Amino acid sequence: MLTRLCDDAGGRLTGSPADRRAIELLMAELRALGLEPEREPFRMPGWERRDDRVDLLSPLGRRLRVAALGYSQPHAAFEAELVDLRDGRAAEYPTDDVAGKVGLINSGTPLQTAEFVRIAAQRRLGAILFINREGGGQLLARTGSFVGAPLPLPVYSITQEEGNWLRRLRERGVPVRLRVETRSRCVEVETANVVLRFPGRSPERIVVGAHVDSWDLGQGALDNGLGVSQLFALADFLRVRELGRTVELVWFNGEEQGLWGSRHQAARLGDDPIVAMINLDMVGVPIAVNALGDDTLVPFLERWNDLRGAKRLPTGVQNINWFGSDHTPYQLAGVRAITFNAPIPRESVRYYHDVADTIDKLPEQIVVDSTSVIADLLLALAADTSLTAWRRPVQETEMLFTRFGIERRMQVIGYWPFPSR
Ligand SMILES: [Zn+2]
Repeated sequence: MLTRLCDDAGGRLTGSPADRRAIELLMAELRALGLEPEREPFRMPGWERRDDRVDLLSPLGRRLRVAALGYSQPHAAFEAELVDLRDGRAAEYPTDDVAGKVGLINSGTPLQTAEFVRIAAQRRLGAILFINREGGGQLLARTGSFVGAPLPLPVYSITQEEGNWLRRLRERGVPVRLRVETRSRCVEVETANVVLRFPGRSPERIVVGAHVDSWDLGQGALDNGLGVSQLFALADFLRVRELGRTVELVWFNGEEQGLWGSRHQAARLGDDPIVAMINLDMVGVPIAVNALGDDTLVPFLERWNDLRGAKRLPTGVQNINWFGSDHTPYQLAGVRAITFNAPIPRESVRYYHDVADTIDKLPEQIVVDSTSVIADLLLALAADTSLTAWRRPVQETEMLFTRFGIERRMQVIGYWPFPSR
């Protein structure tokens, strides 16, 4: 299924023809198993990559290897000098006028995109080249805005090798001149999540989700074709099981550009009785299960892991919240969320969001071994009576984020203050 999804549809940028084709393919594969998946359509601010280019004009002529960040907007082509802005903090800007110039920003900057973009817009910079953190000509496609806001100036990822080269030229005082032409554009798109429900004896529900969309440069095999195939394997497994509780599998769309599909899904939960949500985003073979900061999950997870005996996860139960995948909207809605600590081998994971995130990087054994752990946890959750459907009180939900200091990052990208305030 995943080979066909990767090779026949390609990178699945939300709202693109490849994304639509992937949804059709996935649904056809599920129907071939005798299942009845449903499309849950929604609209979101989308983005189309078109033929952008950044050319070095002097000291020599050459097209640079770049990729625009999502929500970059088209503009008239322009030529400008390059200025090295280091981490992109306001204090690192030269005192003279930088209006219309192109700024070069470090890969290791502690600032988030939203922060250095805001400063660049204040100084009326013409464009940003953001040096990629991974070497070897990689570009790491990513979103420029988590709230779908068109960027006030085009922002590009540039390879580490070319970015450092331009920096060395500037350090020696060599003037660097560039031409920038951006055609990519923001466009409202209609897309869909795919939902598949397995009714249990109780309407109490366990949600298992994985995002189906990916970046467009490669095939999105690891991020997150892996999760797509784990959910598919769970679907195949569940169709012949009797379940104590209802299980809902959700293939989310629009995750990469700002968790749009899971936000849509979480907003529709109403008072539905949800026991927990499991998020599968680049989950390799688990070494630990993570309660994502929710103490009420820990005793159950400890018990589950202990009962696995010789198959106990070596690192056991962790309880650390992190932000930025499809569990977050569910957590904000008061639902308990679980994921795994499950590292993917470096030789595969280094390519994520990039040209080389292709199906050949994903050994099938990872899908087999990881799914057996996920399925085991899912069956335990569907049968367990110590946990009941529950929504966390609002103040405790706030603490789920403040306790780990992640509300600051959420604030910068527009996901905080907390909705209740
Ligand atoms: Zn992902």
